[in-house]
Amino acid sequence: VEPAPSAAVPQAGVPGLVLLRRIGVVDPESLDDYRAHGGYAALRQALRLGPAGVIREVVESGLVGRGGAAFPTGRKWEATARQPASPHYLVCNADESEPGTFKDRVLMEGDPFSVIEAMTIAAYATGAEKGYLYIRGEYPRALSRLENAIARARGRNLLGRDILGSGFDFDVEIRRGAGAYICGEETAVFNSIEGRRGEPRSKPPFPVERGLFGRPTTINNVETLVNVLPIMLMGGPAYARIGTGGSTGPKLFCVSGTVSRPGVYELPFGATLRDLLELSGGVAEGREIRAVLLGGAAGAFVRGDELDIPLTFEGARAAGATLGSGVVLVLDDTVDLASILVRIAAFFRDESCGQCAPCRVGTVRQEEALRRLAGGSASRRTELRVLRDVGAAMRDASICGLGQTAWNAVESAIDRLGVFAAPTTDTTEEAR
Ligand code: NAD
Ligand code: SF4
Repeated sequence: VEPAPSAAVPQAGVPGLVLLRRIGVVDPESLDDYRAHGGYAALRQALRLGPAGVIREVVESGLVGRGGAAFPTGRKWEATARQPASPHYLVCNADESEPGTFKDRVLMEGDPFSVIEAMTIAAYATGAEKGYLYIRGEYPRALSRLENAIARARGRNLLGRDILGSGFDFDVEIRRGAGAYICGEETAVFNSIEGRRGEPRSKPPFPVERGLFGRPTTINNVETLVNVLPIMLMGGPAYARIGTGGSTGPKLFCVSGTVSRPGVYELPFGATLRDLLELSGGVAEGREIRAVLLGGAAGAFVRGDELDIPLTFEGARAAGATLGSGVVLVLDDTVDLASILVRIAAFFRDESCGQCAPCRVGTVRQEEALRRLAGGSASRRTELRVLRDVGAAMRDASICGLGQTAWNAVESAIDRLGVFAAPTTDTTEEAR
């Protein structure tokens, strides 16, 4: 067994895990070992339940999307399943590109058969015979593990025609991204698979109605799909008892920054940020937590004195933050926050696809203003006004989530952390 991702999974092998339970334990290249560790029991259960029964369990589980937006998975599956147009497609979004997000990589490298089994169940429930797995190009190990898993599953009639004698046909094709962050946006994924420029489409229509090749499409994140396996095995209502009423199930968090044990951690929803940071060893002795970026570049900063925030979608929202894709970037008091903001802004400027003006121009203006502020040569009042105006335009008028969220982290750093606040003794014109 190659314990490949276990360095990134400090909990590997700890009893009681749900999503990470096979990571570092199972041989990721062996279908026999996967089955010996419970693999493909969920598909058998799904085939017993029938497509409507599978969807019912997923609805009752309360599962919501783990890519970042937390849309109810059962509602999405129901919506695709009832579309009269055909064929239906299933897409697994494995273009994990949010800075600080590496949970899907751990699942794909350490438990690749689980991703293929979960895709098969999703396709069965939503009436798809063809699935695409769109994987980030920078994940070569995950790619080869998934290719191996697909080949072995085909060899055992777990993919292909008449799967396990059920009459259900399904197969998976892998497509690789080529380094563009925007190609993880779901409609840009479709364009990319279709051989077009990786640019987002306007929504609605949503993919459930018109997605890949203009057909009804279910698109789910890797972690979302992997959650379907325990839902099949324990039943939707039992799964819903994990976590809180508003955020059910287990969740993977990607802890990075100035902590002693960075990595992917699994916790039930409802644990606090403090619990998670204790698990990951906290910051070095003598240092203090200055800020934690929750939800990634599109998320929001919270202060070091706000660690009792519950890690739930509703708890993060109530605290003016977001869980997004599970990024927890910890910054101690040695970190220069202004330079972090400039890097975030440069990232969005670089990754904007340029299709719409608010984002194409706004991300450039945002970075310029932040560089002037960080350099200390600017009028604070003027630059902060520029940032707020540009941020509002991007949020209100951009086509997709990239532009709509490109100002989030910067805004929270200014308003919540006081970055660029004028020192009280500063009486210069720019401070006023
Ligand atoms: P969204 O809210 O537009 O949609 C979320 C999902 O729900 C989509 O699949 C969408 O098709 C579906 N949906 C929404 N309304 C629907 C309706 N009425 N009927 C049927 N389906 C509906 O969000 P989005 O723009 O797809 O994603 C934004 C999120 O992506 C952010 O929260 C961000 O954190 C996250 N993100 C993640 C990564 C990553 O690497 N995991 C990278 C960038 C962004
Ligand atoms: Fe492209 Fe940005 Fe517009 Fe999204 S918001 S379509 S990334 S230019």
